[in-house]
Amino acid sequence: MIAEEHGGEVPASMEELTRLKGIARKTANIVLGNAFGIVEGIAVDTHVWRLAHRLGLSGEKNRDKIERNLMEVFPREKWLAVNYLLIEHGRRVCDAKKPDCDGCVLNKLCSSAFTFPHNMK
Ligand code: SF4
Repeated sequence: MIAEEHGGEVPASMEELTRLKGIARKTANIVLGNAFGIVEGIAVDTHVWRLAHRLGLSGEKNRDKIERNLMEVFPREKWLAVNYLLIEHGRRVCDAKKPDCDGCVLNKLCSSAFTFPHNMK
């Protein structure tokens, strides 16, 4: 499709990117932000999905709805960074199975802090 419909160039709009087979908003947000400096939303991957729920920023299951919730919470100029910050936090601190709530800088703000059995004192 890129070769045939876009002259071999990766398109630079959300509408055109999400028309490509296998490309949804998550990937389109990353491509737009990093390749073109266009920030249209917040990429919601598995870490962002988990952190959005644990931090109480969204109760939605659908990625697009979670994205909309996050876009309401964070200022637009932070949207690209939010994705990477939540991914890093998810990898280093808020692990899927064993979050380190004791060592987490967000534990006073987080609605899930200390709700995990291994964190109970
Ligand atoms: S307090 Fe715990 S659950 Fe909340 S973000 Fe930090 S590590 Fe994750």
